Formats: sequence, C-alpha cells, structure tokens
Amino acid sequence: MIGAGIHTLSLGWRLSQLLEERGESHKKILIIDKQEVGSGASGIACGVVRNNYFQPAMRELMLHSVGVWESDAENLTYHSVGYMQISPEKMHADVAQIYKEQKAIGYDSVFIEGKKDCASYMRGIVDDWQMEDTTSVLHEKRGGFAHNKASLKGLARRARAGGVEIVSGCRVTGFRRDNGSAAVKAVITDAGEVECEQVVVAAGPWVRDFWQMLELPREITVRQGKGLQPTDVSMWCYWQLEEGVLEVEPEYLSNNAGGAPPVFHVDSEQPLFDKASGEQVELSGMWGIYYKPDHNFGGVQGGAAPYLLDMPAEEVAVDPYGPASPQFVARKEFPNIWCAALGTCQKRFEGKRNLYRDEPSGGIGCFTPDSFPVFDRFCDNVYIIADSNHGYKMIGIGHLVAEELLGKTSALLQPFRFSRFAEGELHPQSNSPFPWS
Ligand SMILES: Cc1cc2nc3c(=O)[nH]c(=O)nc-3n(C[C@H](O)[C@H](O)[C@H](O)COP(=O)(O)OP(=O)(O)OC[C@H]3O[C@@H](n4cnc5c(N)ncnc54)[C@H](O)[C@@H]3O)c2cc1C
Repeated sequence: MIGAGIHTLSLGWRLSQLLEERGESHKKILIIDKQEVGSGASGIACGVVRNNYFQPAMRELMLHSVGVWESDAENLTYHSVGYMQISPEKMHADVAQIYKEQKAIGYDSVFIEGKKDCASYMRGIVDDWQMEDTTSVLHEKRGGFAHNKASLKGLARRARAGGVEIVSGCRVTGFRRDNGSAAVKAVITDAGEVECEQVVVAAGPWVRDFWQMLELPREITVRQGKGLQPTDVSMWCYWQLEEGVLEVEPEYLSNNAGGAPPVFHVDSEQPLFDKASGEQVELSGMWGIYYKPDHNFGGVQGGAAPYLLDMPAEEVAVDPYGPASPQFVARKEFPNIWCAALGTCQKRFEGKRNLYRDEPSGGIGCFTPDSFPVFDRFCDNVYIIADSNHGYKMIGIGHLVAEELLGKTSALLQPFRFSRFAEGELHPQSNSPFPWS
C-alpha cells in the first residue's frame, strides 16, 4: 500500500483482521510512505466528520464511516458533538431533501425551517446567534470531528497490532510489470523493489503522479448524463483549501450549557462587514464557512470555500506539501472573509479579526472531473483510492476496500467506479458553494 494516510491505515487494520479470520495471517501487508504517517492531507485535515451530502451515495458511505469512527472513538480521538448545516433560501430545497433521505437511511438528524424557528433553535444552542438569512437548519446528531495526527496514530496502532508493517522514508518511483501483462509485479522504490500480489494506491494529492506512473489517461471522456454527448476533460484538477485559527481559548466557543457545540457549517448570501473597520468585505456571490472549538489547533478553527488552481494539473507542485508549498497563495481575503463571517454568525466574534493567527494554513486537494471519489481497480491488481479530497471523514473506505480485495464486492463503493464518467452516471450537483457538498 502506498501512502500512510487515513485510507491505507484503516485498510491495513481491517485487512489484517480479515486475513486472520481466514487463517491467512502469514500474508504480508506493507505500507510505504516517502515521509511518515500523516505527512499528507490526512495529517493537516480540519477533521470534520459529517453525513451532510446532497449525493445519496455519499450519504450511505458516510453512514458506514461514522459507524467506524464511533466504534473506536477514544483511540481515534473522535468527538461526537454533531454537525449543523445552516443555509439560506437558495439551498433550502436541497437540504430538505438531504434530511428526508437521512431519515430513510436511519441517520439521526433534525430539520428546522423558516427564519424565526431557525433563529430560535440556534439561540437555544448559542445565545449570541445572529444570522439573518438562514431559512433552514439541518442538525445531524451524529458526526463531529477528530484530531488529525492523533487519530492517524490511533489507526496506525490498530494496523501494527494486526501485523501490518509501516515503512517511512521510502519513495515509490515506478512499477514493474512483466511483458504482456497489465498487472504490477513489483513496486519500485528508492530502497529497491518490492514484489507484490496486490497494490493499493491512496496518495491523496499525489494521486496524479501514480496515475502517470501507471500510464493511465491524462484526459478522459465524460458524459454529463445518460444519452448526452461526451466531452474530453483532464482527469485531475487541484483546489486550494484555506483554513485558519482564531487565537482564543477553545472554550470561548462553548454552547449555552458550557459544553462543546456541534461543528457549524454556515452558507449565506448576507453581506459581510469587518466590524472593527466598518468596511464591507468584497465577495462574489455566496459565502460559506465552517468552524469548531479545537484543542488540537489551539483555538477556534475552520475554513471557507476553496479556490480552483487555474493551471493544468501536471504543473501543480504538490511538494513540499501544505502551506509551505510554492503553489500556495494565501489570499489576503481569506482571514477577512472568515473572521467577518464568524462575527456575522455570532456576536462574540465581532471585531476579533486581530486575533486571527497570522500564518498560512491549509493545503491542496486533487479532484476528479465530477469532484467525487474514484474507488476502483486498475491494471488488474492495482486498487486506487482517489477520494477527491473528501476523505478524512471516510475512515470506513479502508474497511470496505479490504473486503473487496478479498473478493466481496461492496454495493456502497459501486457508485464510485471509474466507468461512471464514460457512462454518464455522475453524482448530482448541489447549490452549495463548496465543490465537496
Ligand atoms: C486543509 C485540508 C483540510 C481538510 N479537512 C477535511 C475535513 O475536515 N474532513 C474531511 O473529511 N476531509 C478533509 N480534507 C480532505 C482529506 O484530508 C483527504 O481527502 C484525505 O486525508 C486523503 O487521504 P489519503 O490517505 O488518500 O492521502 P494523504 O493523507 O495525503 O496521504 C498520502 C501519503 O502518500 C505519501 N506519498 C506521496 N507520494 C509518495 C511516493 N512517491 N512514495 C511513497 N509515498 C508517497 C505522502 O507522503 C502521504 O503521506 C482536508 C484536506 C485539506 C488539504
């Protein structure tokens, strides 16, 4: 397995259990990383876990993943505080549908509609709530967040306990295939070759590089819907995710009872003002932010909608990963938008822009043509987990892939096959300003 992030660690954990049950624990599971556990996107993720998706297949997948988080919460540093999608009228119908379908799959949530009821529901949680254009609130009682690096350590402990070997500082440079066969016989690394029966690639933003090494197509044919004309598009594109921290005590964002509130995700069309200067913050269209109190980041942490890196995927420099990347252009607008939006949501954050921790944070995500994951087999024995930057919350993918590797097809993974692009079976699009909703 290539890349020691959320997916291979979860996969190693589950696969070792399944092999043991089958009396095949002599089989070797090896995870290789050019750096170490958590040096990719999984190690800097905000850590939000939610079910709130407009796409039914994503919701079903997340129902399964939330179960995995809950099954080992302490070891995974998972905080089951719940999650709220707080939306303007433009998103009302989409979110109403999400709620209806959550009910159908047994996911515990509450839906509040109408300005007045939304305001009083929110004030029942945090009494300084002051959003004006909210007309629906979806309150998911499950979900919440986990601490990125600590949760990966917990997963690595589980995987190692099952006999999985994790090798750090070993870079994969290519694959060896024997003449006439598509299958990979060995993974080539800077420390030599590793012969293998099965390869799994879960390389987060580096998936583009493995796609190239496997000689998979740079451009693919996408049909927007059944019967529609296909178009050729680039397989990958990159978005820049910006996140930040307000330097206050995490408890500054307590609920009315003094405890941790749910993760708040707010979308809105309301104008934003910086209360300290009185100036309006420049925006084009809707804005969206998410935030939570967080001891891991040390303050109130969250982010806003990402922006597309307007260049061919091949030209994006992924290394060094994270805010140190030369690709990273911290938009000066981000702290202004995020801080003004916090103050627009809750009075306690008004005029607190000066407490923003002034350092770049965030990272880039590698997205597929419809911005949803691809979980599929390529070249006979290579399983690619390309999560299109949805993936920290998807801790259950590794468990499902473990079963697929041993021959049991997963109905939950079926809607995420690569063939959906050519067949026009794309996931539906929502009205959210986020490419991942
Ligand atoms: C700022 C930010 C915030 C996010 N917040 C959330 C969130 O709140 N909730 C959520 O669900 N998702 C979130 N995500 C998305 C999520 O982090 C990713 O989808 C997920 O972590 C990807 O996991 P992975 O295991 O595929 O890859 P990664 O965690 O990126 O791991 C890939 C690993 O591959 C290794 N590697 C790369 N190339 C090679 C090579 N040649 N040889 C060997 N090893 C190699 C890297 O060193 C790395 O450790 C966020 C992403 C970002 C950037």
